[in-house]
Amino acid sequence: MAQTVSRSAVAANQSLSDPAPAMIEFTGVTKSYPGGQASLRQANLSIQRGEFVFVTGASGSGKSTLMKLIYGQEHPDQGSIKVDGQEVSQLAGDRLALFRRRLGIIFQDYKLLEQRTIAENVGFVLRAQGVRSAEIQKRLTPALQLVGLLDKASAFPHQLSGGEQQRASIARAIIGSPSLILADEPTGNLDQENALQVLRLLRQLHDFGITVMVTTHDLNLIKSTQFPVIQLQQGQLERLAEP
Ligand code: ADP
Ligand code: MG
Repeated sequence: MAQTVSRSAVAANQSLSDPAPAMIEFTGVTKSYPGGQASLRQANLSIQRGEFVFVTGASGSGKSTLMKLIYGQEHPDQGSIKVDGQEVSQLAGDRLALFRRRLGIIFQDYKLLEQRTIAENVGFVLRAQGVRSAEIQKRLTPALQLVGLLDKASAFPHQLSGGEQQRASIARAIIGSPSLILADEPTGNLDQENALQVLRLLRQLHDFGITVMVTTHDLNLIKSTQFPVIQLQQGQLERLAEP
């Protein structure tokens, strides 16, 4: 008994002195494009593991740039961006590719390969990583099932509605078991019903323990949940009071 207590006391002390890193940590981040205004100016942001957050801001405020900085497509002019404790700008080549395997990225325009079936699109990244067909097949079924597209596995993207294409892109994002999902205006091209369906799926991923960040300017979407909202305005990231 005493031993159990002292062991858990040690564990508690360790977790106090060495807390798990935030999932996303921006410190003093500045980013501008040549000739443009800064999208971020000395911006700070901390997203904990397992959170679901919305990022909102006017068109052109820098929401997509924020996402690109997180997945290492763009680099900051100044400041530090850590994802799961790792400084993203220090990654390049194979290490950047390995890092991205831990992310699931969802875009407004789905970015499906038109000449490939839904199953091929969803399994594409695993195939490129050299995962065996049998293993891909094993992972495909639950991914397509989750998004309700098992019966569309052999269809091509143009044979699907916008909502279905976005759900296919969600299946593609999760097949590698990511710890962080980044969805950049995932409902921007969808009607309200399909938007809510996509949001339901993202919430389900959050329930599985995945950290989820969603950019949107759809206030109805934001208001339909209790999740925190981060506002991007004039280069600053401000966490609004939770609804
Ligand atoms: P949002 O996603 O909020 O609409 P973006 O991150 O796409 O905003 O863009 C932020 C600002 O940076 C805009 O003024 C945009 O024109 C500019 N911008 C975005 N990407 C580039 C780029 N590759 N080169 C130059 N300017 C860019
Ligand atoms: Mg954008």
